[in-house]
Amino acid sequence: MVQMICPVCKNNCHLEVEEIDGVITVSGNKCARGDLHAREELKGERKIVTYHASTVFESVPSVDVKTTGTVPKELVFRLIRLIKKQKIDHPMKRGEVLLHQPLDLPVDVVIDSDELENL
Ligand code: SF4
Repeated sequence: MVQMICPVCKNNCHLEVEEIDGVITVSGNKCARGDLHAREELKGERKIVTYHASTVFESVPSVDVKTTGTVPKELVFRLIRLIKKQKIDHPMKRGEVLLHQPLDLPVDVVIDSDELENL
C-alpha cells in the first residue's frame, strides 16, 4: 500500500493506494480528482507541479504556486520556466489563477498561499 497526501486542493486528503493483480484501489479521497491524482502518481507519468513565483513586494518576495492538476513529466521544466518569468504586482488570494492553461495544458497554475491577500 502507498500512502500520499493529495495536493490538489486545501483539504489535503490522506490517500491510500493499493494495487492488487493490476487493479488499483484508492481510498481516503473526498473527490474524483484525488482518485485520478493517486493513479497518475502511482504510474509515475504525471505530477502536480509546485513551485514559487516572484512578486514585486519586499515583504513577500515570492509565493507558493501549484498546478490544479497533474502535468506530463516531460513538460514540468518548461512549465517551471514559465512560472519563473512571472512577477506578481498585485494582491492575490489562494486559488487565484496565475497562469491559465499554460502550454495548452488543461490545468491552471494557482496561488497556494495566503501571504498576498492582505498587502
Ligand atoms: S481528494 Fe479531492 S477533496 Fe481531497 S484533497 Fe484531493 S482534490 Fe481535494
